[in-house]
Amino acid sequence: MDEKCGVVGVSLSDRAAARPLYYALYALQHRGQESAGIITHDGFQQHSHVEMGLVGDAFDPDDIAELNGSNGIGHVRYPTAGSVDTACAQPFSVSFKSGSLGLSHNGNLVNAGALRDELAGMGHAFTSDGDTEVIAHDLARNLLDADLVTAVEETMATVHGSYSLAVMHDDRVLGLRDPQGNRPLCLGELDDGYVLASESAAIDALNGELIRDVEPGELIVLNPDGTGYESHRLTDPDNTARCFFEHVYFARPDSTVDGKLVYEARRELGRGLWAENGIDTDVVMPVPDSGRAFASGYAEAANEDGGSVEFAEGLMKNRYVGRTFIMPSQDERERAVRLKLNPIKSTVEGKTVTLIDDSIVRGTTSTQLVELLHDVGAAEVHLRIGSPPIVAPCYMGIDMASRDELIAAGKTVEEVREVIGADSLGYLSPASIADALDTAREDLCMGCVTGEYPYDIDGEETDRAVSRPVIGD
Ligand code: AMP
Repeated sequence: MDEKCGVVGVSLSDRAAARPLYYALYALQHRGQESAGIITHDGFQQHSHVEMGLVGDAFDPDDIAELNGSNGIGHVRYPTAGSVDTACAQPFSVSFKSGSLGLSHNGNLVNAGALRDELAGMGHAFTSDGDTEVIAHDLARNLLDADLVTAVEETMATVHGSYSLAVMHDDRVLGLRDPQGNRPLCLGELDDGYVLASESAAIDALNGELIRDVEPGELIVLNPDGTGYESHRLTDPDNTARCFFEHVYFARPDSTVDGKLVYEARRELGRGLWAENGIDTDVVMPVPDSGRAFASGYAEAANEDGGSVEFAEGLMKNRYVGRTFIMPSQDERERAVRLKLNPIKSTVEGKTVTLIDDSIVRGTTSTQLVELLHDVGAAEVHLRIGSPPIVAPCYMGIDMASRDELIAAGKTVEEVREVIGADSLGYLSPASIADALDTAREDLCMGCVTGEYPYDIDGEETDRAVSRPVIGD
């Protein structure tokens, strides 16, 4: 299960939570387009609306009006290739003896299977095959004989893997980030309440102020009347394992994630790319949209170094075409790249071009674009990538394809260049990524570029000593 999602929770003083949650989900739409949902609580009972599709299609005004209560959580779910699975749409909601629970989860557990078996053996009945329901049942069991904070602490000791959660226990909204802080979560203040969200852009959308990131291993409990919050540090790990790919690709450029504005990080990554692998060409051109900030940093650093490169938009994006990787077959993916990006001939013809993108996964986008630019008359096409080669799958929640689909797995950079057909190819080193994110290398999860993971995953290496059970996936 790949769960690369957006989560949000709000507690307000005297106003329905549904509309702010709906706006926040709009701001987080890039984190998931498969389904959208909101659960609210009016002090007596839960109200829920969860549907497949984009936020704008999943709710109509009547749906919002029926979601009573000033506390609630929301979720957008990332598509998994080809499949549409209503049972996994979130927030997940369930009622237990210990009260009602709603959960919005971003991340991926590595021991969900074993926990599910254990809980099923104790009589818990499951309705989906998702990780989130496993967390819900574990929390429910702990809530039977412990207070909320202790119950969450116990669940945190049991579930292993990556999770940023917005949880609702009756009318109380909580935010929880896994002990290694793999997925982002932040806390913000509104005029009349508080908000927890995957990214600060969702807080901005509500005219709120970002207070700070939720710390790895921290539980935030919002007061149901919107007057404040409590913080509980439940664990204090030596190292974090923050996903570097949030800054490289996933998060919005206007979000601040773990204290670093994503746009600024991408520009610095672009500058690092010039420093490590710069090449003088007539034009520097981004692959829109994610390559833009990288290319502007790269071109700026090139010109500071005495170059005279032109930053040019040579590829126009059709914004109505979805993310190419969700197309189920390779053939469809290739066609989608051509539908999505079209060159502006005059900025390319007869010129040497540096094409800049954030990452290469399967290599579909790069191969197609290099061919396209050659076709419309580029003299040379040099490819520069703002992250290291992706050589291993992600078990922590980013849908990255399996190892045999990854173009760089088992190949040298020169071999990848040859397949893609570029005149030259340069990637960025892990050290430059850590520099640009103002983070120590050992506090970042770089499993997809090193094949070493912060959690024990059967058959994979771990890059640090963690006393966790080895679990197959
Ligand atoms: P590919 O065509 O498979 O090499 O994918 C690389 C392109 O997809 C780049 O332009 C990235 O911006 C984008 N990309 C990278 N990672 C992902 C992801 N997890 N989901 C969707 N798109 C991605």
